[in-house]
Amino acid sequence: AKDLGRNRFHYFTASMQEEARYRMILIRDLRQAVNNKEFEIFYQPIIDLPNGEIHKAEALIRWHHPERGLVSPGEFIPVAEETGLIIEIGNWVFSQAAKQCAHWRDKYGVELQISINKSPVQFRDEGDSFEDWIVQLKELKLASNSICVEITEGLLLDASMGVSEKLLAYRDAGIQVSLDDFGTGYSSLAYLKKFDIDYLKIDQSFTRNLESDTDDVTLCEAIIVMAHKLGMTVIAEGVETEYQRDILTKAGCDYGQGYLFSRPIPAADFEDKYIRAIAQ
Ligand code: C2E
Ligand code: CA
Ligand code: CA
Ligand code: CA
Repeated sequence: AKDLGRNRFHYFTASMQEEARYRMILIRDLRQAVNNKEFEIFYQPIIDLPNGEIHKAEALIRWHHPERGLVSPGEFIPVAEETGLIIEIGNWVFSQAAKQCAHWRDKYGVELQISINKSPVQFRDEGDSFEDWIVQLKELKLASNSICVEITEGLLLDASMGVSEKLLAYRDAGIQVSLDDFGTGYSSLAYLKKFDIDYLKIDQSFTRNLESDTDDVTLCEAIIVMAHKLGMTVIAEGVETEYQRDILTKAGCDYGQGYLFSRPIPAADFEDKYIRAIAQ
């Protein structure tokens, strides 16, 4: 409620001119951030619901702004997409996640899959070098399924710029694909079949009201049954309570991600809390 209040205040007081100025500064700072490496990756565990063990992790970018402190990706990713800076940022996220994965393997013998978010803008970019990612995985001696790519529904509808060819190339190379925020976009169910998606992530807007809204329970159950019949594994996002976890587990949901288990945390904390534990 505090956040809403702040945004509303911002909305009513900022003139269009101020907004435009703010945006220009943000773009300038973001360019600097790319050069000065002001980003960090946080990791959030994805938990096996029936047994409570960690299954894999999602990499979520953080920006340490020299004056403003932490800037949330919700604020800067859209600007990075509009300016094309997301290409460089996205490649950095990939390399970082791959190196992290290899590091944990070398240090603890733990091979944990890391999911990264890939913007549609990256897919549409002609210079988007999927081959380069494969080379990096090979150099690190990582299996291709060490990294999973999270995409959103809109991408599946986009036949332009060889998006579908790229997705099929991922498949051929053995890189897994997750469909993020499922239920919020416009995907046609036919696309789920066509692209042979590995994981379906139920959006947190469905998870949120499981306690109060029986329709959302029905929807989650139906999504889970459908996904399983199509050969997909299901991850519920935004699991915050034990009650939500229990309903989802009973509905046959495979994995859960959310504050109930852990917030996204720095790599060193993730290593202490999860990687060491698996290694023992
Ligand atoms: P997303 O991919 O849907 O990631 C899940 C978001 O939900 C994350 O927000 C995570 O911190 C948050 N979350 C996790 N568990 C809970 C929970 O139990 N309750 C609630 N309320 N929220 C939870 P975050 O880290 O702020 O990221 C926001 C979005 O920014 C991401 O949504 C993703 O779309 C984008 N993003 C983050 N990192 C990257 C990146 O490296 N590349 C790209 N292209 N996008 C990114
Ligand atoms: Ca995601
Ligand atoms: Ca999501
Ligand atoms: Ca999202």
